[in-house]
Amino acid sequence: MDDHNFGTRNKRGDWAPNGHIEVAPFWAWPPKLMTVLKWLPEYVWPWNAFHMATALLYWFYVVPDVTVMKTLSWGWPLWIYAVNAGAIFVFYGSVELFFYVKRKQGNRFKYNAKFPGEQPSDVFWFKSQNIDNFLRSFFISIPLWTLVEVLFLWVFANGWVPWLSWADNPYYLAFLVAVAPMIHEVHFFFIHRLIHWGPLYRWIHSVHHNSVNPSPWSSLSMHPVEGFLYHAVAFWHLVIPSNPIVAMFQLHIAGFGAVNGHIGFDKLEITEETPLDTHAYAHYLHHKYFEVNYGGDGLIPLDKWFGTWHDGTKDGDVQMQTRFQKKKERMNAKTARANS
Ligand SMILES: [Zn+2]
Ligand SMILES: [Zn+2]
Repeated sequence: MDDHNFGTRNKRGDWAPNGHIEVAPFWAWPPKLMTVLKWLPEYVWPWNAFHMATALLYWFYVVPDVTVMKTLSWGWPLWIYAVNAGAIFVFYGSVELFFYVKRKQGNRFKYNAKFPGEQPSDVFWFKSQNIDNFLRSFFISIPLWTLVEVLFLWVFANGWVPWLSWADNPYYLAFLVAVAPMIHEVHFFFIHRLIHWGPLYRWIHSVHHNSVNPSPWSSLSMHPVEGFLYHAVAFWHLVIPSNPIVAMFQLHIAGFGAVNGHIGFDKLEITEETPLDTHAYAHYLHHKYFEVNYGGDGLIPLDKWFGTWHDGTKDGDVQMQTRFQKKKERMNAKTARANS
């Protein structure tokens, strides 16, 4: 496919998509019913459908019997960890293998012309972004993902929170499934905004931001505090009346869905004629500029409401620079006051 039909490449070879990142169309006023109807299939397919499919697979084939999960032990949690690690290895690993190692698409649709493997840096373990990100994912974040999973399954199994049945609550549970990606965005925005606060940033979140040019392995490369808070989104289903399958779906949006923002390509050419939209650009801009797009790509446009939205256009750039300039002036004024 020719990526010039979809965007432009600058002198450095970085590619940017045409148009702007749009918030979900149901926020439009006056309401645009047709646009919402056209958008619905892409809300479901392929990403959320994939997360639901894996949640169901886990529920029926991976998660042990409820009587087993009533008791905490090493056996079943280790089994779930092994499946999580295996699944991420295959899922993230295949994107790495085809698009970063074999580079089957070259740098078509790639935001940053360079590949992380070409840029050794001291900030990473063994000076390698790939090794660092891989180790942090498998030995820090995936164990914490599993911890969250084991805890909510254990709580459900013991009947300490309501476990609504599909037969009695089909509409309510279907509604919860439909809004789960929105819950994700709200949860992610607020924990993410929190760990961008100076001291917490330096202590926790800087680990994730070492990857300025992210690849799939960067997705779950996090400090343990972030790794736990990020996956703890599933605990929402211990607070609102829910069902463990919906909690599992919520967890998979976080765990498997983290890759979306870090694929580094706007489209993956699955075949010559079938591009897969990655929805990665908003979060790519976050890795590039840090203080923009704390949320996702505008399902719940919290960034717009808080004034930190970058829609990927020149205009978005100007707004961001003005905000950075104002912040700098405030900081300078503060230092001047402190010194006087
Ligand atoms: Zn990220
Ligand atoms: Zn961040």
